[in-house]
Amino acid sequence: MYKSCHLIQHGLCFFDNKLASCCFSPVDQIDDQFPPVLAYHYWGQIIPVDDLFARMDKYANIFKQGDCPKECQNCYKIEEKDWDDKRYIDQITITHFSMCNADCIYCSNNTEQWARNPNTYSIIPLLKYYFEQGIIKKGCEFHIGGGEFTIYRECDEFLELFAINNFARVFVPTNAIKYNHNLFRAMDEATTYIIVSLDSGSEKTYRKIKRVDAFKKVIENLTKYAATEKSREAIRLKYIIVPTYNDNIREFKKFLNIAKKLGVRNLIIDIDARYSRVTNYNIDDYFINLAYEMDKLAKKQNFITEFYCFFFQNTNNKTIKKQNIFSRFIKSIKFKYFDKDLKKLYTNHTFIAQIRDN
Ligand code: SF4
Ligand code: SF4
Repeated sequence: MYKSCHLIQHGLCFFDNKLASCCFSPVDQIDDQFPPVLAYHYWGQIIPVDDLFARMDKYANIFKQGDCPKECQNCYKIEEKDWDDKRYIDQITITHFSMCNADCIYCSNNTEQWARNPNTYSIIPLLKYYFEQGIIKKGCEFHIGGGEFTIYRECDEFLELFAINNFARVFVPTNAIKYNHNLFRAMDEATTYIIVSLDSGSEKTYRKIKRVDAFKKVIENLTKYAATEKSREAIRLKYIIVPTYNDNIREFKKFLNIAKKLGVRNLIIDIDARYSRVTNYNIDDYFINLAYEMDKLAKKQNFITEFYCFFFQNTNNKTIKKQNIFSRFIKSIKFKYFDKDLKKLYTNHTFIAQIRDN
């Protein structure tokens, strides 16, 4: 028994110029802490199996000796148990590409630190090699991150290699602006799930947040993705509360109507992660109350709901002050016109919208 983490021995994460063990880090992007890096200056080079595990062992051995790598300090994934020493990979995050056909106001790829880069390297040769070497375990979880996966050039090859054949469980965030039939097949025939952040129930709010005119197209494509019972169950429709943009129950009700029409039951409620960060995870009670209210309303209509962790960081075990109509109104005015953090986040958001593709 000793303290360690599953991903230090069995995880991989592809960043734009690094290969790491995971994409988690408790204070990621706040003070530049980065997860355990297995290769710097990484652009898809084949790392032989023995070499890969030797690199992973360097970190795992620190845990074995009762210590903690500095990259993992305070990580909530660390636990004490009997860890196996077998050599396999069963969790892979792909987040090395960043191009997208939307321009969400909350997108972390719109910052200097994560600027969009059209020169994306290929990961299929390496994944194929590890697959042939038998080190990618059947049932491996793939989490897609980065930009928009349906416009990533290796999307179809990846889906054919790992998803449609039911080899892995794949989680794909997509904005659904572009329909991909292989993705639909993976949802309908295998164990692939899509997460679509609609964040709105109307064309007007969608346009303000996603900053592209694609609301109708997205609904059309969601209708295709929701064509069968199995594929409908594979959809998670997400509502990210974006302060001053969609932070009201009226918009959320419209969002629920769309989900109902599509027959989608699984919903996610979250808050703009950048707002959580600028407030150092001290999310105002106003938004927490709102999320609870949304959750209650959705459950009443038989939806299955889930809160994402950004939202709940620091809100668990916190006593939330209930608010009446008057205090809600005052708060909404404050957030709209007088909150310095929000002004900085949204008014000074200068990224220029354009359709990008790779
Ligand atoms: S402990 Fe945390 S930071 Fe370290 S490998 Fe595990 S998930 Fe990543
Ligand atoms: S869909 Fe939005 S959040 Fe996702 S990568 Fe594109 S612009 Fe960013």
